[in-house]
Order: sequence, then structure tokens, then C-alpha cells
Amino acid sequence: MIDCSVQRVVLVVLDGLRPDAVPRFALPSCAALLKRGRGTLFGRTVSPSLTSTVMASLLSGAVPSRHGVEGGRFHLPRIRAHLDPLPRVLGAGGLPSSMHLARVPRIFAGVANRIANYLGFSDVRLVGHDAAEILAAAEPSLREQTRGLICLHWPDADRAGHAAGWMSPAYEQAARALDLQLGRLCELIDLDDPSTLLIALADHGGGGTDPLHHASDHPMDMTIPILLAGGSVVPGALTPGTSILDVPATVCWALGVQVPDSFGGSPLREAFTPSRTSIAA
Ligand SMILES: [Zn+2]
Repeated sequence: MIDCSVQRVVLVVLDGLRPDAVPRFALPSCAALLKRGRGTLFGRTVSPSLTSTVMASLLSGAVPSRHGVEGGRFHLPRIRAHLDPLPRVLGAGGLPSSMHLARVPRIFAGVANRIANYLGFSDVRLVGHDAAEILAAAEPSLREQTRGLICLHWPDADRAGHAAGWMSPAYEQAARALDLQLGRLCELIDLDDPSTLLIALADHGGGGTDPLHHASDHPMDMTIPILLAGGSVVPGALTPGTSILDVPATVCWALGVQVPDSFGGSPLREAFTPSRTSIAA
């Protein structure tokens, strides 16, 4: 477990980016990641497919019934069962975690920081309005944080979906903006570098039963893109139906940290070079 080639994971959440937007709008950066990395446009999120619920699962590794964030708002979970938040688990292994998301109204800043503290983030930046501004604000971290986890959350597509409908012209424009920034992010982190693992995914789709929302169990709400890339990743396809719960387990595993028993998913070992697999086998 000494020579782990992956030293840091850059995890970017493309909020509300429906996977069929990738071929429909011919999004070049997503398509390039599918080709050079390992991914699927048939990943599966957790139910209910709300950002707060999905982010709680992504950052705790736990199924919703375990972490208890099942409504539409962010809050500290009532303790139903023991949780091992991902940043906290990485922190115990000596690895820092940073979070970069859009600024929130001042009255929510306190609760946002309390949640981030609970999860164990060592650095939280609530700067910018959209993907372009959030990425610009995260550039120093992307240059300087060479270990651990760097999370980015980009709200553009979800916002447009709620306002104008999923797959509407405004949504297409937002999806293109996300894809453009994803391309910039790929340039910033060097996808040939085996020490950086990029994971780009959506938290949910949208327009399944309500053209302006995404909380149902309809496949259009539940199906997400999950894309892995980096010098340690073997190109190919992830199994359709790969769960978003497999992502936090993969982050731990790739960074050489033991996956906690409270996690509901399994590492996507098949996405990595055999040498990486044998190291932690
Ligand atoms: Zn939403």
C-alpha cells in the first residue's frame, strides 16, 4: 500500500446534467472523457434524486436511509447510524479535502460551513456564481493541492432545467457552458498524469415526470453520466448501472485508504491499471 500512483482525486459534480445531453448536444469535453477515460452514460444515482440527498451519499458513502438526508434541503443528518464522511476518512489518512461551490446567501453561509466542518473538509470556498467563476476561484487549489480530494460543484445545468425545462434551449446553453469548463479543468490537471484521478458526474438528471424538476424515480431523473479519467485509468466502458455510491468507495480505494464498512458501494477497480489493482488487492 506504499506506492499508490493516485495521489489526488478531482471530483466535479455537473449538477443536473442529463446523460443524453452528451450526444444530443454533442458536448465535446464529455465525449472526449468517455473516449480516453472510463465511463458510462448509464450510471445510477440514489433515490430520492435530489441534490442534497445525492451529495450526502456522495460525501458520506452511505445510502440515503442511512444518512437520513432525504428531503429537499441541506441539514446536518440526524444520527440514524454510524457515518464515515469521506473527507473525514481521508483526513484520518493524512489527506486534505477541499470543496468549491457557488456562493450562498449570507443567511445560509453558517449552515454550509457547519455541514462542511461536520464532513471534515479542510478548506471550503463559496465563491462565484457559475462553473466558470467557481473553476476560476478553484485554480489555486488545483495548482497547489497535490494530495487528497478536490470537490467542485457546478450548478449551471440544474438552474437552467428548473427555470426553462430539461433539454430546453436554455438548458442546452448551460450544458455547453458546463462542458466548456470541464474542458478547461482537464487542461488544468493534465490527464496523462497518473497521480491525478478526475471523476466527473451528475447528481441527477431531470424532466422525468416534471419538465422542471428531477426528484422522481423515472429513469430520466435517475440516470447519470459517470466519467473517470487520468493517467491511472484504463480506457473503456464502465458497466451500465454503475452506482454513484461506487464513487466514494473508489475515491478511498484509489487513494490507498480503507473503504469504511458504512459505505454502500464498491471500488470500481476495473477502471484502473493492473499495477494499481495489485497494490491494494
Ligand atoms: Zn435541482
